[in-house]
Amino acid sequence: MSEFGFTLLAADGAARRGRIATAHGTVETPAFMPVGTAGTVKGMLPGAVAETGAEILLGNTYHLMLRPGAERVERLGGLHRMMGWNRPILTDSGGFQVMSLTGLRKLTEDAVIFRSHIDGSEHVLSPERSIEIQRMLDADITMALDECTPHPATREQTAASLALSMRWAARSKSAFTRRPGYGLFGIVQGGVYLDLRSQSVADLTEIGFDGYAIGGLAVGEGQETMFAVLDHTAPLLPADRPRYLMGVGTPADLVGAAMRGIDMFDCVMPTRSGRTGQAFTRRGKLNIRNARHQDDPRPLDADCRCPACRQFGRAYLHHLHRAEEMLGPILLTWHNLTYYQDLMAGLRAAIEDGRLAEFAVAFAAEQGLGDIERL
Ligand SMILES: [Zn+2]
Repeated sequence: MSEFGFTLLAADGAARRGRIATAHGTVETPAFMPVGTAGTVKGMLPGAVAETGAEILLGNTYHLMLRPGAERVERLGGLHRMMGWNRPILTDSGGFQVMSLTGLRKLTEDAVIFRSHIDGSEHVLSPERSIEIQRMLDADITMALDECTPHPATREQTAASLALSMRWAARSKSAFTRRPGYGLFGIVQGGVYLDLRSQSVADLTEIGFDGYAIGGLAVGEGQETMFAVLDHTAPLLPADRPRYLMGVGTPADLVGAAMRGIDMFDCVMPTRSGRTGQAFTRRGKLNIRNARHQDDPRPLDADCRCPACRQFGRAYLHHLHRAEEMLGPILLTWHNLTYYQDLMAGLRAAIEDGRLAEFAVAFAAEQGLGDIERL
């Protein structure tokens, strides 16, 4: 089994074209990870997810620990085997969902204590337990447990939260058992305070991780502020380790962040939006439920290779969504994931060819045209 590692293949300005090696195969970067919350990318068979071009999925520790339970997943042979996905998987630490989904919780130095949003049962998530659960899930990439600092937060609140996260990062590292092909990532926090971001990078690189995530962004601070934090933080991170921007984002966020040296992304946007009738296209976002699509035989996106665009027109997709047929969300999810993966492939090719600036200009110009009539 190969060692876990990151190879930098090319660079264009701050942007990087790389490859991550894991126990379950390689991932070309920049990469977008579809979110498989509860052991499934909602509405998509694993083969279909792979067809979109995805090479790695994200699984949610919080959801899986509550249902079906980490011990049960382990008995079933791990998450890859259970869900029929034999490529790499990254799991989050569970911290973000605990803090965003459960009203009843208590944060101590040792752990976060919370009640399940499913049945109200009490659970304790410590750094050690989070790492143990992620090992039972058999995640190729394990995330350290941290506290996701709320936004907005004062500098004082952010500094205190960061200090706890860094102590938990050290405990996560101690709890992580090294195995060939498996890696552990630390998470840079510090909110919008650049000096705290610097401190967080210094603390994490001192502990030493296989990769570094940037957390606590895309929580309402705005794209300009997020990019400013990335401009400051990304160059501080070790060049020989992958960089993962958590929970981001829109197509424009991905282009801008890749230009700033980010290698990995995850977001529920393409899947969640697909289920509610929102489609991302080369000409921007549209809502298929809108009446203007009801007689339109043309594809969602004429340049897309997905089944929703190759086999069906807007009028039919509109009908499926209005009639609440399950094929509607399936097709729009398939389309959105294909669009996201094709965008990443475009970014990778542009970085390799040293034409990322031109790619970004053309991307913005086409998005700016809007979803207008064209025959
Ligand atoms: Zn499509």
